[in-house]
Amino acid sequence: MRNFLFSCCASATKRGVPATSFIVTGESFTQEDSKLNGNWSPEDDAAYLSWSEVRQLADQGLDFGSHTCTHAALPDIPPAQARTELQESLDALGTYLGPQDFPCHILTEELRKESVDC
Ligand SMILES: [Zn+2]
Repeated sequence: MRNFLFSCCASATKRGVPATSFIVTGESFTQEDSKLNGNWSPEDDAAYLSWSEVRQLADQGLDFGSHTCTHAALPDIPPAQARTELQESLDALGTYLGPQDFPCHILTEELRKESVDC
């Protein structure tokens, strides 16, 4: 959520504390630019970070990882669909933040095998 920009991020960077945000990368969630301004507003409770804000935070040292493309519950969908969720989300992170090793937390061994190939 966009509150990360104004709450956690400000505190973490000020104190030098490592922080990671796992973002949902699909177009319904993460847009290129935010329609909101640079100051906190109540709308931030329901808004997602934009890619430009993600890059801004990454430049400040925050890490980002995948939280899928559509916020799907991976154990509840077919393995091939889970793999697509992981691969397309990873591709989006690489496109917007550059290629790197993104943090990974996989819940099941079956999904871990799918993610290793991504
Ligand atoms: Zn979630």
